Order: sequence, then C-alpha cells, then structure tokens
Amino acid sequence: MTQEAMAWFEEEDEIGVIRCSICGVAVDSVEEALDCEWAPFFYEGNDQHGPACAGCSSALMKMDEFGEMEIKEEYRGKIHYLDEPLEDDGDYVFMGAIYN
Ligand SMILES: [Zn+2]
Repeated sequence: MTQEAMAWFEEEDEIGVIRCSICGVAVDSVEEALDCEWAPFFYEGNDQHGPACAGCSSALMKMDEFGEMEIKEEYRGKIHYLDEPLEDDGDYVFMGAIYN
C-alpha cells in the first residue's frame, strides 16, 4: 500500500463511507476496504478513478508496468462511474460491472 493510496482512502473515509466507483458497493472504513483488497484508485487511460471493490478490480483491471491498477483495454470506455453518491439507505445492491 503506497502513501498515495492511503491518502486516497483517508479522503474517502472522511466522507464516512468508502464506495466502489464502479458498482457502488460500500464499506464503512479504510480498514474494511483494505481487508477486502479494494483498489484505492485506478486508471482508465489518463483518468484516475477510485476506489474500486475487489470484485470490480479483479474483473476489470490489471496491474500495469508501474504497479498501478488500470482498466483492461477491452473495458475502456464501457464503464459507467458513479460520480454522484447514492442515497445512503444502508442497503446496497451489488449490480456487478455495467457493460454497454
Ligand atoms: Zn465494485
């Protein structure tokens, strides 16, 4: 875990919840995200997104030559990112990756 990655997680943690930017699944703490092997951030081309849950990162990403997570080529441009927070009703449904 790099310092940059920790900083990213902590920024999310201040909001009170860490939410996968792809499927919207959420955990309550940095510790829980780390335990579940979330990726704190990742790249699609030059754009940085994150965090991503273990399911999305293992399905959609690969490690690049610099040790950063990046979206596999076949999925680039096909992922809808959840930039807007969902209503916090405590009942998140795992929708899986959203393909066009
Ligand atoms: Zn996810």
